[in-house]
Amino acid sequence: MAHPGLFVTGTDTDVGKTAVATAIARHLVAEGRRVGVYKPVASGVTTAVSDARRLWEAAGAPLTIEQVCPQAFTAPLAPPWAARAEGRSVDERLLRKGIEPWRGVSDVVIVEGAGGLFSPAGEKSLNADLARDLGLPLVIVDAARLGAIGRTLMAVTAARAEGLAVAAVVLSHTHPLAGADDDPASERRIAADNALELAGRLGGMPVGVLAHAAERVAPDIDWSTLARSDGRRA
Ligand SMILES: [Mg+2]
Repeated sequence: MAHPGLFVTGTDTDVGKTAVATAIARHLVAEGRRVGVYKPVASGVTTAVSDARRLWEAAGAPLTIEQVCPQAFTAPLAPPWAARAEGRSVDERLLRKGIEPWRGVSDVVIVEGAGGLFSPAGEKSLNADLARDLGLPLVIVDAARLGAIGRTLMAVTAARAEGLAVAAVVLSHTHPLAGADDDPASERRIAADNALELAGRLGGMPVGVLAHAAERVAPDIDWSTLARSDGRRA
């Protein structure tokens, strides 16, 4: 069996993957687990507060921040294009090998992909290929806004068609949601209703919500057990 871990991916870019991945890492650290964090490749990295830094700090700053994300590019493009803009290319072998230092020092590794599940990670690989090769079950993140049911069900169905196991779904509030709970058209109510509808349609798969700036996914999900599940679809 693969080393325990989860591959946090999304229905699209900018849906709140890093917030969810850091919440999972903090949850596991609070349970006393040694947590590794790995971002195989990143693009659009221009500020000090990168995904890698947020992941690293959530895990308690293990190893080095360079080992969290060994391949980072500046341009806000898919990684192969961002690399090309710097006269470089994504190292496909390193995408897969970069997780190894983390396996040695952790009980569980949280991997954050780049973009959505079918977004390019390298010249050849999509994120889905990487998740398969790393042998990790998926956590699919979507932004908690209108359309989440359709986007999420498409991503879950497509992941399964690729032979990948989906361990959980999380809807992430990418901004503070407006409106009253008793207004069916409010952002807050749409987000809550989407989570309930998805839980019903996904037949027992954990469906969580990460509120804006919240520390934890609610309701509580047993990430530790999910991280030990098989990455291939049963
Ligand atoms: Mg991110």
